[in-house]
This record gives sequence, C-alpha cells and structure tokens, in this order.
Amino acid sequence: MSLESFEIMDLSGLTPMLRQFYQIKMQYPDCILFFRLGDFYEMFGDDAEVASKVLEITLTSRDAGSQGKIPMCGVPYHAVEGYLLTLVENGYKVAICEQVEDPKLAKGVVKREVTRVVTPGTITLPQALDEKSNNYVACIFGHGDAFGIAYADVSTGDFKATEIRGELAEAKARDELIRLNPKEVIYPENLLAQSILDILVTLRVSHEAREESAFQSKLCYRNLTRHLGTTTLAGFGLKNKPYAVSAAGALFEYLKETQKISLEHIRDIQAYSLNDYMVLDSYTQRNLEILTTLRENKKQGSLLGVLDKTVTAMGGRLLRRYLAQPLIDIQEIEKRSNRVECLFNEDLLRTQLRDSLEKVYDLERLASKLAYQTANARDLVALRDSFRELPGIKDLICQKDALQDLSKLDCLEDLEEVITDAIVDDPPFLLTEGGLIQKGYNKELDELRDIARGGKEWIANLQKKERERTGVKSLKVGFNKVFGYYIEVSNANLNLVPEDYQRKQTLANSERFITPELKEYEAKVLGAEEKINSIEYDLFCQTRDRLKDSIGRIQQTAHLIAELDVYASLAEVAKQKNYVKPLVNTGTSIEIKEGRHPVVEEYLPIGEFVPNDTFLNLKESRIAILTGPNMSGKSTYMRQVALIVLMAQIGSFVPAESATVGIVDRIFTRVGASDDLASGQSTFMVEMTEVANILNNATEKSLVILDEVGRGTATFDGLSIAWAVTEYLHDHIGSKAIFATHYHELTELEEKLEGVFNLQVAVQHSGKQIFFLRKIIPGGSDRSYGIDVARLAGLPEELLKRAREVLYDLEKGSKKQETKINQLSLFQTQEDPLIEELREIDVNNLTPLEALNVLSELVKEAKRRP
Ligand code: ATP
Repeated sequence: MSLESFEIMDLSGLTPMLRQFYQIKMQYPDCILFFRLGDFYEMFGDDAEVASKVLEITLTSRDAGSQGKIPMCGVPYHAVEGYLLTLVENGYKVAICEQVEDPKLAKGVVKREVTRVVTPGTITLPQALDEKSNNYVACIFGHGDAFGIAYADVSTGDFKATEIRGELAEAKARDELIRLNPKEVIYPENLLAQSILDILVTLRVSHEAREESAFQSKLCYRNLTRHLGTTTLAGFGLKNKPYAVSAAGALFEYLKETQKISLEHIRDIQAYSLNDYMVLDSYTQRNLEILTTLRENKKQGSLLGVLDKTVTAMGGRLLRRYLAQPLIDIQEIEKRSNRVECLFNEDLLRTQLRDSLEKVYDLERLASKLAYQTANARDLVALRDSFRELPGIKDLICQKDALQDLSKLDCLEDLEEVITDAIVDDPPFLLTEGGLIQKGYNKELDELRDIARGGKEWIANLQKKERERTGVKSLKVGFNKVFGYYIEVSNANLNLVPEDYQRKQTLANSERFITPELKEYEAKVLGAEEKINSIEYDLFCQTRDRLKDSIGRIQQTAHLIAELDVYASLAEVAKQKNYVKPLVNTGTSIEIKEGRHPVVEEYLPIGEFVPNDTFLNLKESRIAILTGPNMSGKSTYMRQVALIVLMAQIGSFVPAESATVGIVDRIFTRVGASDDLASGQSTFMVEMTEVANILNNATEKSLVILDEVGRGTATFDGLSIAWAVTEYLHDHIGSKAIFATHYHELTELEEKLEGVFNLQVAVQHSGKQIFFLRKIIPGGSDRSYGIDVARLAGLPEELLKRAREVLYDLEKGSKKQETKINQLSLFQTQEDPLIEELREIDVNNLTPLEALNVLSELVKEAKRRP
C-alpha cells in the first residue's frame, strides 16, 4: 500500500494502529518512519519495502484490516543506531516515532509522536561523526548578485552566516559551499543559481528545496531574534544583511522541525565576511591538497595530515577551519603566531599543556548532548574529568604574557562540583538501573538504599539460618525475575521441608519454596530498588538540566581549549620539523630562504629534501617562468611556495630557514591536468576554465601558481595561450606568479617584460644518465629531457632510440620554423603567399577575361588551403 494510494484511501478500513501510523506518516512524507512498537521500530508499506532492501532485513507483512495485508519490516530498538546510519548514509531521512505514554496506562492505541528527524546533515550518532571534522547542514538563498549562506553543526552548536554580494556572488557562494563541504543543503524552491544546483549534484550532497515562504526575511528575522532573546540581529553582525538572515532563519526553522528540541546549544549566530579571509577557490583547495589528497581524498598526505598534532577533537576541528580560511588581517595573524611562538619557545610548558589538554574530552559535543538530553552519566563524568583539568591549564597559560588573552578561561569549577556531588565516580551506561548517584546526595535515596541493603543482608543470612533450621546442607536461596526470591531444596531432602514452606515451582531434581517472611523482605527489597532506580533517574536528569543551563559557558571554554590546542599543535610540529616563524607584513614581496615542501619532505628520508629560495616582488621579480625536466621538482617547488604563504597566514611557523610574506589576498593554482568527468568537461576545457577564473579574479595582491598551462591542446595553440596568459598577468593584473612550463619559448619573455624572470631546475647529466639536483637556479633550461625521464620510467631502449631520431627530425623542422617565426616576430600573423600573388597582379594590364581567369585560379588556390 503506497502513500499515494493511502491518501485516497478510507482510513477507517485500517486497524487503529495502522491508522495512527499513516496519520503520522502523512506529516513526514519524505521520511522513512520508524514506528515504535514495544522493543522494535517497525516500518510499513513503501517504507518497509525501501528499508528492507537498503538494510538487508526480511520483509514480512501484517494484517492491515479490511484493506488486506501491508508490507512490514522492523529493527530492534536497542540496535537502532547502525540501521539509522545506513539509511542516512544512503541519503534517506528517518523520522523516529516514539510511544509517548506508558502502554500500561494507555486507553486504546498508545499515543505516539515523532521525536526527531534524522538527516545526513543533522545526525548526531557518534558512529556517524568524525571527531575531528564538523558535520554541517547548510542553507543557501539568493540570486544574481546577492546570496546568503548559513550553516550549522548541531553536534557542536556552531551556527554561522554570511552574505555575498557583487558581480561574482554566485561563483563565490558556490566556492564557499565547496569549502564548507556540508552533508546536506537546503535552498528555496525556485533557486535561480544553476551552478549551485549543479555543484550539489556533482558533490553528491543531500539537498532539499523548501517552500519559498520559509525564507521570507521578516519572518526569519523574527524567529531568530525570538530564539536568541534579542530585539535586533545587529549585535550578531547581521545588520542590513537580508540574504544572510533569510538563509539563517530558514536553516534555524529546519533544525527546529527536525531536531524537535529547543536548540539551547545554538546560542549565537556568528556572521562572517568572505573578505576577512584569504580566498581559496575550489580548484586551489583541492590542488594544494590542504585538507585531503587529490587522488585518494585522504587526510594522510595532505597539509592537514602534517600539521595536525592536536590532542582534542575540538582542536582538530578548529585547525581544519583555520587551514580552509587563512587570514588576511595582519594583527590577527600576529596574535596567532605570537602564541605559537610562545609555546614553541617553552618546551616544558608546551608538554605540560598538551598532557593536560589530552585529558579534556570533546566539550562541544558533550554540551550538545546536554541540549539533546542524550548525555548519560558517563558523559557527565567525562565533563567532570575535563573540568578538573581546567584550573591546571589556566595556571599554565597565566605564566605567559602572549597567552594572557586566553587566560580568561572559565574553569567551570561550580559545574565540576555539581557533577562530583551528584554522580558516582564510575557510573553504569544505563540510566534506568540505578548506581548513578553519590551516597549522601539525597536523604530519601540513602534511606531506601539502607532498606534495600538491610533486606538483602537478611536474605543473604537466610540461607545459613534455614540450613541450620532444616538440617538440609544443600539448601539454597536464589532469585529469578519471574518468581523473585525462593528457597530451593533437592528432591532427596524434601522430607525435611518445614510446614511454613509454600511450594512455588517444581524442577527435575528439586523444588522451590517461599515463606511469608521471605516474601515480606522481598517486597521491601524490590520495592525499594524500583524506587531507588526511579529517584536516581530523576536526580540524574535534574543534574543534567542544571548543566544544560550552562551550555554557553561550556561552549566558551571549549572554544578557548580548541584554540590552545591548535597553537600547541602548531608549535609542536614546528619544533619537531624545524620550522621558523615567518615575518608576515603588509608589504608586497615574498622572500623565502631555504624553503621546503611540508608534505613532500615528510615522505623523504631525513635530509634528502633539497631546500630552495624564493623571491617574488611587484617589480622585476613578479612572474617567474620555471623550466626544467619532468620529475625534476617544479610542481613541488611551486606548491611549496603557496603552502608556505598559506601556513604563514594561518599563524603557523613554516618549513624554511627564514620567510617574509607580504599578505596575499588569494592563492590561485592551475596545477595538473585532469578531466572533470562529473561535469562532462574535457581536460583542456577544465584547464581553460580554471585559467579564466584566475584571470577574472586575481589582483595585485594575489599569488598565482600555473603549472603547464596550455598543455591540453596542440603545441602552438598551447604555447600561444601560455604566452598571452603571461603577458596578460603581467600587463593587466600584476599578481606575483610562478609559471612552470615545458614551452622553453616562454623564457624569451624575460627579455620582453620587465617583471618576468627565469628560473630552472638544475640537472646534471653524464652519458645517457640524468640526475635531478632539485635545486632551483636562475635562468631558463633549453631541453625537456622527456626521453631521459622516459628511460627512468623503464621504456625499452629500442623505443627510446627511435624517439631520439624522431625528436632530432622534429627539432630540425622546428628550427626552420623558429627562424621564420623569429624573423616575423613570434606572434605576428605570417603573410599569406596568396596576398603576395595578389600584390603582384597588374590590374590595369588585364583583359576582363584574363582577370576572371586569375580570380578563378586564386579562388581554387584558396580552397586548397586547410
Ligand atoms: P612534471 O613536470 O612531470 O610534473 P615536476 O618537475 O613538477 O614533474 P615534481 O612532481 O615536483 O616534478 O617532483 C617529482 C618528485 O621529485 C617528487 O615527488 C619528489 O619525490 C621529488 N622532489 C621534488 N622536489 C624535491 C626536492 N626539493 N628535494 C627532494 N626531492 C624532491
């Protein structure tokens, strides 16, 4: 029975329970409904058919009333997480429908309600979350030259929004979404931004269109201020930002609808501007392998992989955010790098700090669990243990001026006390079976515990007493859930059983009895235990709620701890890997002495990486044309420059002997050629799109890295494009750039353009062998050594010999061509011989017929041309 058929179906034909199922299902048509029935979540109808396939569970059926049978499947409630995760990972949303009244007290069908909708961007199951990454759900709204983006991580309480305006707003919004890498995106029904819709499909992000009305700016404003308890959003930096407000408001409502809690852990909206950060477009983010590797999409082998020595989950997530958004404000950069420097210089302090930080649990996610009321007693103990580390951490940071700003750390002693007073040191996982609350915390509880203990002691002594009384040595006192406490006597001794024993159960070799006295104590014990469990649960919830009132304070402390962890991690890496503090200034040059590639050096034996210098400025050293054989280290060198600049601007130390970095507003890269199969573009098309992006967006303050631009097409076309791109960068944009190329002709530009200079990778050869020295030196190289590199790759000698012959012929031909080109200047159009012929015709001495014949010959000749 499908939902559609159900809509036109008579509900009264269904059993009452299924009627309730469909009534709820109608409110969540896009979700799979997990309908709680006792110890199972059952699915019915279409949901059951879909879920049984995805989850690989048996599909059965159930009597639906006069409508016949309905497909059904189910999963046990205690193992629901794994199933939920599978469905969500497969792109489904799941609505969890719980019994919200005690079945024993229910009249008719038990009342049920959806208590949570689990979606890819809002899932909070620990198995679904990577502890060192955020799990974002984002919202985009806008059109033309104005867009708003908001995003949230419900597992940490992060909520941010930005407004992007201007000619390139759509492209910037798209890049921002790529940077955020959300798991789910919502947008208005008629979003007029095809490139954004396309990228959602390409990135396979779960996405959903929402009604236009949900984005109405006034409504959004009102809902947000109501939640935040303010009358205006100006204090959150959202004044005059209607697009950001709409995105944030619609996202917030979506969260309320799905999470069904009051979202107390989302306590503010942090507005940000893309202009506050270095722009790293999507190509560059990928090409520089900042967070993941290009090929395998893994952290290991990326810059993050090298720099992440954080010891807390919060620090890990923050470092990731820093790397994806380098700063451009000199003061902010200095603030960070001074803190890193301080921890770099103080080995003991850093070690002690990292030791303490390591013991701090994920405060952000624990705080969110308080808001969701899913924190158990062990989570509270994790909070308590973390809070206990805070005073020590504060003492350490107070020792240093550079860390003073961080010493406003709230040590949350009062909250630590709340937990210590209430919760035992090592509580069980379950909240319903007692053992949670400290002795002395609650009088009634202590009394009940005494009663229970007294009763238990009496029962424990009963065995001894009854053995003596009856003379049956093998008599046992036991307990089971059905009969409670009993006295067990073997068949051989039944004759010794006293009168007051009442037979309860007969087993093969024994009989079980009770006595009125035993029952009385049993009632005391069991009654007390039941009460104890319920009081303990209530006291636990009260404690949790007290902490919930302080979520904001916990989050603030969590942010400072995350920052400290990042600084300490950057300092640790700098120490271990011999990095230096760069001088970052507002100048325009980049000067690196003995720079190294942070990732490549990591994978080479110590000391084997050959360091290189870099000097770029806005005058004579603006664009470097870098030539050298394949495999000689050109890409490594260029990326190393980009990564050193990026590291400097996140506040990190850098792999070099010294470095001065004039702040860069954007890094652009065009590195490597790859087909973009997903968008159906060819290698060359991708290459040209990336180049167009650079030329349209680069400024004088940008750093541009170009690797073999033009390679994707015919040699002369490619060379012409590369030549013209260099000229354009030089004459119209003025960015600093390094351009690696196999077109040796480009080295001529050094003579022609003031800001262009040549660099090459030094190579040594002896006989047929070449050796890469990996050293970047001034000058242009005149050979590609392609065939030598092919030998290194193991191509057959015979083939290599033939390649040399062909190369010789080609070079001879191209020499001739080159002479011609040089005579005519490289990019002047060569005069067509036809024009020469035309010039020689003496029109005045031709008869009309001759003229016609000449014309016909010329036309024929012209048609013969390719
Ligand atoms: P192609 O032109 O084929 O793209 P390339 O000149 O860009 O090649 P890279 O990819 O940068 O060469 O470098 C090739 C390999 O050389 C690297 O993987 C690395 O192992 C090694 N290498 C590069 N630079 C250095 C260096 N400075 N010191 C030591 N080894 C290096």
